[in-house]
Amino acid sequence: METKKVFLTEDEIPRQWYNVLADIKMNPPLGPDGNPISPDMLAPVFPMNLIEQEVSSERWIDIPEEVLRVLRIWRPSPLVRAYELEKALDTPARIYYKYEGVSPPGSHKPNTAVAQAYYNKEFGIKRLTTETGAGQWGSALSFACSQFGLECKVFMVRISFDQKPYRKTMMANWGANCVASPSTETKAGRQILEQSPDTPGSLGIAISEAIEAAVTDESGETRYSLGSVLNHVMLHQTVIGLEAKKQMEKIGEYPDVVIGCAGGGSNFAGLAFPFVYDKFNGKDLDIHPVEPAACPTLTRAPFAYDHGDTIGMTPLLPMHSLGHTFVPPPMHAGGLRYHGMAPTVSQLVDEGLLEPKAYNQLATYEAGLLVARSEGFISAPETNHALACVVDLARKAKEEGKEKVILFNFSGHGVIDLGAYEQFLAGNLTDYEYPAEEIEEAEKILEQYPKPEHVKSR
Ligand SMILES: *Cc1c(COP(=O)(O)O)cnc(C)c1O
Repeated sequence: METKKVFLTEDEIPRQWYNVLADIKMNPPLGPDGNPISPDMLAPVFPMNLIEQEVSSERWIDIPEEVLRVLRIWRPSPLVRAYELEKALDTPARIYYKYEGVSPPGSHKPNTAVAQAYYNKEFGIKRLTTETGAGQWGSALSFACSQFGLECKVFMVRISFDQKPYRKTMMANWGANCVASPSTETKAGRQILEQSPDTPGSLGIAISEAIEAAVTDESGETRYSLGSVLNHVMLHQTVIGLEAKKQMEKIGEYPDVVIGCAGGGSNFAGLAFPFVYDKFNGKDLDIHPVEPAACPTLTRAPFAYDHGDTIGMTPLLPMHSLGHTFVPPPMHAGGLRYHGMAPTVSQLVDEGLLEPKAYNQLATYEAGLLVARSEGFISAPETNHALACVVDLARKAKEEGKEKVILFNFSGHGVIDLGAYEQFLAGNLTDYEYPAEEIEEAEKILEQYPKPEHVKSR
C-alpha cells in the first residue's frame, strides 16, 4: 500500500529555528519621533531575551531543551499525502499537507506560545497578558503558560466572548483568566465603555488593554505576548517548515508550490521561510501566502509604515497595511481579520519573492467541505483560504497536464468553529469585495508617516 503519512521520530525534531533576518534586508521599526527605535524601548512590554531574538540576524537559533520537551507533546506533526483530495479533483498534482491541528489547542499557534512562555519564565516573569479575537491565540497561550507555571490573563473581543463560550472554557481548563474586552479592568477599557457601553469590541482595543495591563503592573513581573506579526513569532514557527522538508526528503519529494493562509503571517512563514531559504540558494519554486478578498492586505494594500494596533501604541512597522483604523468586514475567518502583516512577509512580497493570492469567502468554505468529504478533517475557516488556493492550482495542473507537487500548511482544525460552518451550510454567508475607496482612504491616512524604502535583499 502507498504511504499516506510521513512521520519523523522525536529525535528528528529540528534543534534550531531558521531566522530569515539573516538573509533579508529590512526597513527598521520607527518610534514616535520617526527615528529607528532601540531595543530597550520595548523592555516594559517584552522580556529582553525575546527582544534579542526579535532583532537577531543569526541564521540558526538553538531551540532550548525545555521548549522541545513541551513541543514533543504533539511534535513532530505528520506530513500527509492528500490522495483522496487528489482523486476528488482528478488532478495529476501530488498534494501534501503539514497537519498542525494535532496540538492540544488545535492549531500551529502553540509553537510560539510555548517558546514565549519559556523565555518569559527564564527572565523571571510570573504573568503574561494577551488579547484574543476568535480565541485561538488565547487558548494557545493559556496552554503554554500552564506548562511553565505562569499566570495568564486574556482580553477577549466582546463579540467573540459572547459567541464562542467554549473557547473561554478551554482557557479556564488550562487555568487562565479570560475577560471580555473592553473591560472595566483597564483605563483604556473603562474609557471606551463610557463612550459606547454596547460596543462589540475589537482586536485593536483588546491589544491596548493587554499592553496596558502588562506595563502598569508595579511588580514588574508581568509582560505582554503577541501571537503573530513579530519576527520572533515567525522564527518559532519555522519548526513547521524544517520538519516538512525532512519529511519530503524521506520520500524523495520536493515542492513546486508552497501555500499557507496569512492573517498576521505566522503559520505561512512557519512553513514557507525554510523554503524561501532554498529559493535564495537557487531552488525554483512558487510560494503563495493566501488571504481573504475581504481583507486584502498583501494583494491590494500599500507597503507602508503603520502601527500594529488601532490607537497607535506600537512602533511604526514597515508592512502591507489596510490602515490601523481598519474595521473588520463581516466575515467569519476571525484569525485573518487584521489590518497589517508581518514585516518579514511584507518585505518578501515587496521584493517579488512571494506571490500573494486572495480568495472569496464562499470559495474557501467550498474548499473546506471538499477536504472534509475527501480527507476527512474539518479545517479551521482560516485554513480554508489555503485550501481554496490548493484546489485552484490542482485544477490548473489538470488543465495543463502537469505533475505539480503542492505542499500546504493545514494550520488548524475547525471543530471549535462549527458556528461558522453552520452559517455557511444554511446559506447565510456572502462574498464581500473590499471597496477601492477604503484602500484610497488607507493610503491617505498612511501619508502622515515616513515611507519604507524598496530594498533588495539579493
Ligand atoms: C490564527 C490562525 C491563523 C492566522 O494567523 P497567522 O499568524 O497568519 O498564521 C491561521 N490558521 C489558524 C488555524 C489560526 O488559528
